[in-house]
Amino acid sequence: MSKKITQTAGRQQLGKFAPMFAHLNDDVLFGEVWNEEAIDVKTKCIITVVSLMASGITDSSLGYHLQNAKNNGVTKEEIAAIITHATMYVGWPKGWAVFRQAKEIWNEEAPAQSEKDAYQNTIFFPIGEENPYGQFFVGRSYLAPLTTEQVPVYNVTFEPGCRNNWHIHHAACGGGQMLICVGGRGWYQEWGKEPVELTPGTVINIPAGVKHWHGAAADSWFSHLALEIPGEDGKAEWMEPVSEEDYNALG
Ligand code: MN
Repeated sequence: MSKKITQTAGRQQLGKFAPMFAHLNDDVLFGEVWNEEAIDVKTKCIITVVSLMASGITDSSLGYHLQNAKNNGVTKEEIAAIITHATMYVGWPKGWAVFRQAKEIWNEEAPAQSEKDAYQNTIFFPIGEENPYGQFFVGRSYLAPLTTEQVPVYNVTFEPGCRNNWHIHHAACGGGQMLICVGGRGWYQEWGKEPVELTPGTVINIPAGVKHWHGAAADSWFSHLALEIPGEDGKAEWMEPVSEEDYNALG
């Protein structure tokens, strides 16, 4: 025997106003007729949709029974054929009216979003292309130049667990880097100091000559704007990766 059909809408909506009608709806129509076994539930769903259509009933009860038909295995191709077939007998406008509701119910689900696309929707700035400096990072990162004039600004995005190696922004005069967190959660650490957690709005000033690293938390995407502070003879020196031990000790 297939699964038992139950229905309580009668008592919920009309139990006080019309208890006999509620009883017939819930106990007889849905309790007995929907559960008789000579025809299967999917077929009953189709008969019900076509009966409502033939009667010109296109209110919420049609929507309920279309959804019920889908839930009981009627495919998009089948419902299209069923409505088309019935239309030839019951009339063109009824076909249109039922198709308008069926189209909503059998609408294709939106294709699954990638994690990257889902994260992009949480930040204002573009994620950009894969980072050309990826050789100096553990994990995958992305770089989007926002401006290369006056003070160059890049949006740098790190996948969960991604971080750059220890490095120094050298300059003979001026120079250094500023970070402004714009998405997710990450870390910044200067050599010999405690790590600093970065969340959207956190600003970090990195003087030239200071050894440091920055990157995502293990369980979060992370983006910061990187501002190249103007200076003389500016150059980045890339060093060893952050040790797994140190990184894993972070939250
Ligand atoms: Mn840096």
